[in-house]
Amino acid sequence: MSQFPIVGGELVVGGHRISELAERVGQTPFYAYDRGLLRQRVTELRAVLPAGIKLHYAMKANPMPALVCLMAGLVDGIDVASGGELKVALDAGADVAEVSFAGPGKRAAELRQAVAAGVLINLESFREVELLASISRQLGRPARVAVRVNPDFELKGSGMKMGGGPKQFGVDVELLPELLSQVKRSGLAFEGFHLFAGSQNLRAESICEAQLKSYELARRLAEDAPAPVRFLNLGGGFGIPYFPGETRLDLAPIADNLAQLLDRARSELPKAELVIELGRYLVGEAGIYVTRILDRKVSRGQVFLVADGGLNHHLSASGNFGQVIRKNYPVTIGNRADSAERETASVVGPLCTPLDLLADRLDLPVAQEGDLAVIFQSGAYGSSASPQAFLGHSGVTEVLV
Ligand SMILES: *Cc1c(COP(=O)(O)O)cnc(C)c1O
Repeated sequence: MSQFPIVGGELVVGGHRISELAERVGQTPFYAYDRGLLRQRVTELRAVLPAGIKLHYAMKANPMPALVCLMAGLVDGIDVASGGELKVALDAGADVAEVSFAGPGKRAAELRQAVAAGVLINLESFREVELLASISRQLGRPARVAVRVNPDFELKGSGMKMGGGPKQFGVDVELLPELLSQVKRSGLAFEGFHLFAGSQNLRAESICEAQLKSYELARRLAEDAPAPVRFLNLGGGFGIPYFPGETRLDLAPIADNLAQLLDRARSELPKAELVIELGRYLVGEAGIYVTRILDRKVSRGQVFLVADGGLNHHLSASGNFGQVIRKNYPVTIGNRADSAERETASVVGPLCTPLDLLADRLDLPVAQEGDLAVIFQSGAYGSSASPQAFLGHSGVTEVLV
């Protein structure tokens, strides 16, 4: 992958050759995230997006504390999805005015934490209105809330749909008048709306369409709202290319579309800030997973490189996290990255299951025991999205370099 240079035949991450980095980390497998690339991604995005758009980091994509700390200094806000993530965001020094908390099953203790911290809570049910009203009374401060809406449309071409149709997320738009009047009666501090249609989308026109529909829906709902809309989260869903044939998301039309919405908002929702929340797009391409080859086996003519980590650390790359048909992530042998000697080989993990497959019959540099297999596009939904206890192997470590 072009974002990581090759020096002396080795992949370089955060200024370190991969073999030296492995020594410095002191163990394999590990994830490495490149600070320079994280910064560059935010800078490039800001250069294209209109200045008035607020950029939030959805930290479920990668909750490593050091990385969240770095991101908190680069973006305008952090979106959390649990009490645990809220703690990491607060530790990272995120501005509580710009932290928001979403998720379909918030426990009472988590809501209490959030009200006490003063962050914005994305309301997702009638139950949460009641709970927050009583917590607000107990703590003597009204909960700040935005209503997460389950719209009557879907994000087309999305890897994972999270809005439209029957969903556990948000409140169905048909029920909003009733919900909003309950919010008003409960004395909660209403601040706006949150819409999140889906994830991993590479089609700019679908994202634009979802953002436009989300904006128009929010503008209509604002007429029944207990207070002026100050916060309008239009979601995200920006995808990154993982597989052969996928092309990079074209940001230009999205930026144009957002500029038009900002323009409309100036007169139609004059107090509102427009926010987009991105996870994968901000961090996915800045990270790699590195696993050492323990064994090289040839079975009936097929080469298997057996590595010291697999789906227990990197479920997504094995194809078991949201994919319908298994496809290979981009992979190389990091310490032989520009070798001309190549072969077709499969990279498998150490687990006793055929699902533990990191690369299925891929063209790779010829590898030996001790070499380092590298999975690219691994900065999002890696370590924290994997079943590390499965089969009792040791855990994976993460470094920010
Ligand atoms: C998962 C999620 C995100 C992040 O999605 P990405 O595809 O990683 O950008 C943002 N907002 C909400 C509400 C989410 O649930």
